[in-house]
Amino acid sequence: MAESKRDYYEVLGVDKNADDSAIKKAYRALAKKYHPDSNPDNPEAEKKFKEASEAYSVLSDPDKRRQYDQFGHAAFDGGAGAGAGGFGGFSGFDFGGEDIFGDLFGGMFGGGGSRATRTGPMKGANVRASVRLTFEEGVFGCKKEIKVNFKEECATCHGSGAKPGTSPTTCPKCNGKGQVIYSQQTLFGTMQNVKTCPECNGTGKIIKDKCPECNGKAYIQKKKSFEVDIPAGIDNGMSIRMAGGGEPGINGGPRGDLLVEAVVSPHPIFKRQDTNIFSTVPISFAKAALGGSIRVKTVDGEVEVAVKAGTQTDTRVRLKGKGVPFLRNKNNRGDHYITLVVSVPTKLTKEQKEALEAFDATMNK
Ligand SMILES: [Zn+2]
Ligand SMILES: [Zn+2]
Repeated sequence: MAESKRDYYEVLGVDKNADDSAIKKAYRALAKKYHPDSNPDNPEAEKKFKEASEAYSVLSDPDKRRQYDQFGHAAFDGGAGAGAGGFGGFSGFDFGGEDIFGDLFGGMFGGGGSRATRTGPMKGANVRASVRLTFEEGVFGCKKEIKVNFKEECATCHGSGAKPGTSPTTCPKCNGKGQVIYSQQTLFGTMQNVKTCPECNGTGKIIKDKCPECNGKAYIQKKKSFEVDIPAGIDNGMSIRMAGGGEPGINGGPRGDLLVEAVVSPHPIFKRQDTNIFSTVPISFAKAALGGSIRVKTVDGEVEVAVKAGTQTDTRVRLKGKGVPFLRNKNNRGDHYITLVVSVPTKLTKEQKEALEAFDATMNK
């Protein structure tokens, strides 16, 4: 059933090492070619346009591009665990599709406010928040409670914004359309432009008697707590999408989403790169020469690691499976690499000096 997806680099026709400007350039060319405005009633063009937009939304974002390079399409296809719907569901990562439309087409067609020209139900805007995590919380996942400003329908006017007993009237300037057409003189002649109706701010309705509770805003802003399920393996800068946690929809559309960005604190010993953890472990000169075992800190606690006789400084040892769980499957884990650094003693007693000198003498025979 699921169609196999084309590689994002292939979609944009760029090299895997393409830089940001090359990606943007490739996307602009495709977006221009396949934009629905220039290809009305052409489903093939529409498909190509969407495909290119999706590829661009990932490859233009350094974090998402890194995730994509590591996990492929699996990094974004959502549906992990709880799935979509309802509050508190971990339903995939922020796709940010709308943002690039604003940026790109705002500049490209000189339109500005292209979203306001859409009529009918519209999804509410997304709200962004962040949550601070310790290194270990990012590795193993956790539950976090966050408080955000949340607009709730006003109970007094039931979201109409009008004083109880009255109702909003149709805006006379735009006849309830929410947008007005105006003409503009340009170098190329008269251009017809559409803009949001200034009278009703695009709602198509005028409220004469405002609801006293919400002052005509139709919503009351409250602090609301969300329990965020942080998945094991989340990395700094990744976002969790909480469906329905954003701004209320427009004209009966669904609420936007709450996007919670993980801000992971650095660890004093461990460094993380994707699913691998790195640390440096000092060992004594004698242990390096003679071999033996040492205790090493990992995110699972201390483990015993064998040191081979004759270990040189900067020797790297892999502790398999002691790294970060994979986001898509927490039963798979990366590795922990330790770098053994031989410590040279700086303060020696008389006996130690003599012992070392005696040792050294045997080496020169
Ligand atoms: Zn109200
Ligand atoms: Zn109006």
